[in-house]
Amino acid sequence: MRGALVRSAAVAAAVAGGLAPSLPAQSDDASRLVGALLGDTPMVRDLQALTDGIGGRPTGSPANFRAFDWALERFREAGVDARKEPFRMPGLWLERSARATVRGKDVTFTARVVALPFSTGTRAAGLTAPLVDAGKGTDADYAALGPKAKGAFVLIETEDLLDLDGLFREYTEAGHIERRAVGAGAAGLVYMSSRPGNTLARHNASLGLANRHPMMMMERDAAARALRLLRGGTPLTLTAMLDIQSGPAYQAHNVIGEIRGSARPDEIVVIGAHLDSWDLGTGALDNGANSVMVIDIARQIRRLALKPARTIRFALWNGEEQNLNGSFGYTLAHAAELDRHVMASSYDIGTGRITGFFTGGRAEIVPVLGRALAPVAGLGPFTHLNIPLVGTDNYDFMMQGIPNLVANQESANYGPNYHARSDEFGRADLRQLRLNAAIAAATTWGFATLDRSLPRQSARQLDSLVRNTDLADQMKSFNVYDAWVAGKRGLRP
Ligand SMILES: [Zn+2]
Repeated sequence: MRGALVRSAAVAAAVAGGLAPSLPAQSDDASRLVGALLGDTPMVRDLQALTDGIGGRPTGSPANFRAFDWALERFREAGVDARKEPFRMPGLWLERSARATVRGKDVTFTARVVALPFSTGTRAAGLTAPLVDAGKGTDADYAALGPKAKGAFVLIETEDLLDLDGLFREYTEAGHIERRAVGAGAAGLVYMSSRPGNTLARHNASLGLANRHPMMMMERDAAARALRLLRGGTPLTLTAMLDIQSGPAYQAHNVIGEIRGSARPDEIVVIGAHLDSWDLGTGALDNGANSVMVIDIARQIRRLALKPARTIRFALWNGEEQNLNGSFGYTLAHAAELDRHVMASSYDIGTGRITGFFTGGRAEIVPVLGRALAPVAGLGPFTHLNIPLVGTDNYDFMMQGIPNLVANQESANYGPNYHARSDEFGRADLRQLRLNAAIAAATTWGFATLDRSLPRQSARQLDSLVRNTDLADQMKSFNVYDAWVAGKRGLRP
């Protein structure tokens, strides 16, 4: 019933807007595709199989290999051509276990901790050092600590993380906090978990593989207890035992499904989501939900025997959580055909309602989106943000000058569960996921049938995008700026 409502609203919107009279067949196809995705498809079953059945799947882990084999099988079962494409991961990082004990005069308690991704490990007996109150980790806080930070674990107090804005703030501040800790000669860094209910989460150490210090997140109540004791004048030590599996560069794989274009097969539209996840929970919101959505869109196009004008590639990226390496690898492997990539879209903000798209600072994309979304106008309103966004798999496409989109979504429950123990199947909004699938399908179809091409930007245009927006700051907080400046990642003038 919902589908019928949406489709009639779509027709009304299309008529009212006088849209695309030259492409009646294509918009009819879009409506059929939207209707199919709103129906009873295997998408939710897939999400449960991926999360409950396979579980958390950090790149390099056995579960990650299983997940990509599983996804390849889903494409093939649906009759979609699909392949594994290799790329290089610069290093292996997995946590085996993490434990911590806090001690003071007449007081000892264990505190649940997890290692930040790219934390170093400790020897088996653990690393013991003074635990000191570093406040919020500001310059003033470190100045107040003075020489006491040297050789100590600095404990950073955080605010409750409520939403996506709080998450972006955490990411922006973390790089500075870690840089100050290293500058002060700290032995290691401990974040108080910002998540509700003593939930633990993995927040990447900002230096990535270049990090040389033990860094962890401590459950909120234990960290608060330690801070109260410290502020009451009880000196404490922390013994941390971090058992980390690390290793050199290795080969991992993306899975790419493909439906060949009928009129312009050489031109390519990519819709992607990363299938890798962190491992405290099972990666339902980040990013299993959008991965099974990408699979389902391919499945329904095939089932309806729809013929897109351009080739559509359905990308399940790997290595996203570890510096966006899968999509980066794709842009290297497909360098010769990047000129013919018309669009690369990414879906990576859980199951909150899609409210529009980040269009990467390319105003000409906004009206195209408006037309593409006509068949799902009833699921709007949609507002597009014409700014570049760093943090997911559009990044290397953007820095290669390829038109790119990131779906903007209502924060919903994404922030508190981000990379957390609580990112589980039961947290996914299955109804909204289905509506989002319709929106993503209409968008993809719109670009796959667009009657003109969107040109690739030049290195000079990208340079001016970096200069005229906050792109450089975003790139720094995701640890990809230096590689761009060095000409190793993205176009340079
Ligand atoms: Zn993600």
